[in-house]
Amino acid sequence: MTTQPAKPPLFDKIALIGIGLIGGSIALEARKRGLAKTIVSATRSAETAALANRLKLTDHCGTDLAEACKDADLVIVCTPVGACGAATKTIAPALKPGCILSDVGSVKQTVIADMVPHVPAGVHFVPAHPVAGTENSGPEAALLDLFEGRWCILTPLPDSDAAAVAKLEAFWKGLGSQVERIDPKDHDRILAITSHLPHLIAYTIVGTADDLGGHLNSEVLKFAAGGFRDFTRIAASDPTMWRDVFLNNREAVLEVLQRFQEDLFYLQRAIRWGEGDKLFDLFTRTREIRRALIHLHQA
Ligand code: NAP
Repeated sequence: MTTQPAKPPLFDKIALIGIGLIGGSIALEARKRGLAKTIVSATRSAETAALANRLKLTDHCGTDLAEACKDADLVIVCTPVGACGAATKTIAPALKPGCILSDVGSVKQTVIADMVPHVPAGVHFVPAHPVAGTENSGPEAALLDLFEGRWCILTPLPDSDAAAVAKLEAFWKGLGSQVERIDPKDHDRILAITSHLPHLIAYTIVGTADDLGGHLNSEVLKFAAGGFRDFTRIAASDPTMWRDVFLNNREAVLEVLQRFQEDLFYLQRAIRWGEGDKLFDLFTRTREIRRALIHLHQA
């Protein structure tokens, strides 16, 4: 039996700026799959850096963001969306010419607008968003297989270097993802309905239940069944991350929220007037959507 020669790593050195759920999971997976010779990270607080080092997520984690990026071939900013611009400004002087700079932000247009002004000439910026996650955050939330079979959306800019885009695509495929390239504006509109609005609804429902007050409060928690329990899981998502998502995808979220409210009023009216056929028709249509999702292996 002939053995395949081991493939050389895609990158000599990867630097991750921010080492929570997403940064940590990239680190674990990239190491397991041999995608880089060296993986380092840097984060804002000494506590998080110490935790990341204790968990051995990367070869080293420090608090000097620029220092971590020296000689890196790939730098991925893995901070909350609202911190991407400032982090890029800090690391810019340390970025090596020819290196690929990327991010993982859940919103693309504002992150691009915040990062682009700081990207030095000769550095290839390719924005990205892995559509995979959990409600947990911080280094301890990092896990293997997070990206397996999940989409990673690249939103290259019109002047993005084609070779850099192809290499980042190979990296995300190497982590187990499927990759698609989408226009940043389309990305933000799609994610507004598929991810951001559902989170807003979950935060609202759990808040409303909590506001019921009195003895109902504890009863709600006691009898929390499937639907409500799922909402509480989503509503446990990181407050900083989600505050930043809503503030940065304001326009698209407000647009889908408007449409959602109209559709909710339609259902409210149907319930009030006993129009069961309207309810039945919608619930039948949505059941088909769920079945189609299962067919696409996205549920
Ligand atoms: P996380 O677990 O909370 O980790 C965030 C990391 O960024 C931590 O290391 C944190 O460091 C660091 N950080 C925060 N503010 C910073 C600042 N101002 N300057 C430098 N570092 C800072 O977050 P995450 O879930 O990995 O999310 C990271 C990014 O991935 C976000 O942009 C999010 O939109 C995107 N994303 C998240 C998910 C998800 O499901 N969670 C999915 C896809 C994409 P300290 O602890 O030291 O402050």
